[in-house]
Amino acid sequence: MARYRGSVCRLCRRSGIKLFLKGERCFTKCALDKRAYAAGQHGQRRIKISDYGIRLREKQKARWYYGLLEHQFRNYFEKAERLRGITGLNLFILIERRLDNVVFRLRLAGSRAQARQLVCHGHFLVNGKPVNIPSYQLRVGDTVEVREKSRNIPCIQQVVEQAAGRDLPSWLSLEAKDFRGKVASLPTREEIEAPVEEQLIVELYSKV
Ligand code: SF4
Repeated sequence: MARYRGSVCRLCRRSGIKLFLKGERCFTKCALDKRAYAAGQHGQRRIKISDYGIRLREKQKARWYYGLLEHQFRNYFEKAERLRGITGLNLFILIERRLDNVVFRLRLAGSRAQARQLVCHGHFLVNGKPVNIPSYQLRVGDTVEVREKSRNIPCIQQVVEQAAGRDLPSWLSLEAKDFRGKVASLPTREEIEAPVEEQLIVELYSKV
């Protein structure tokens, strides 16, 4: 499975905001706190950014935030366009419903990257059946739980303990002692925490 293998802090520095890609470390030793400018020789140079550049950066930020590759993000956009309603909102609802994102937002993983790895390694059940596809689309009413055999694995217990302090979005419910959560409803725009302006992404893809 293809994925970005470079430095993720570099992506935050390019975006100029914290994208929280490294789990707990983002709250303690954040690279952006020390160097709040883009990485590289020309990172501190002031450059005038075009309208296209603004839209491109917004799309890149959203893609990095969810850990998606360009073709995956584009596919979600094309699906969102075919749905009724507001394309930008549909796009983020589709992405939020990914299994790896739901595992992260249920506080069963420290970051989306870790959630993806745990899903790929077969530690999760959806509606009681094993699913190891991070992009699996969940529906309202679906349950997600840590496989019983995996609940005693120290790293999973540690992750769940560490993540317990994070807020649980209201479109999900969690029974923490059973390592089980449920999709109670679809997220609204306010419940989607992605720090992006979706309209800019729609404008970018509509022009290409
Ligand atoms: Fe981004 Fe986290 Fe790295 Fe900070 S520590 S720059 S929030 S990935």
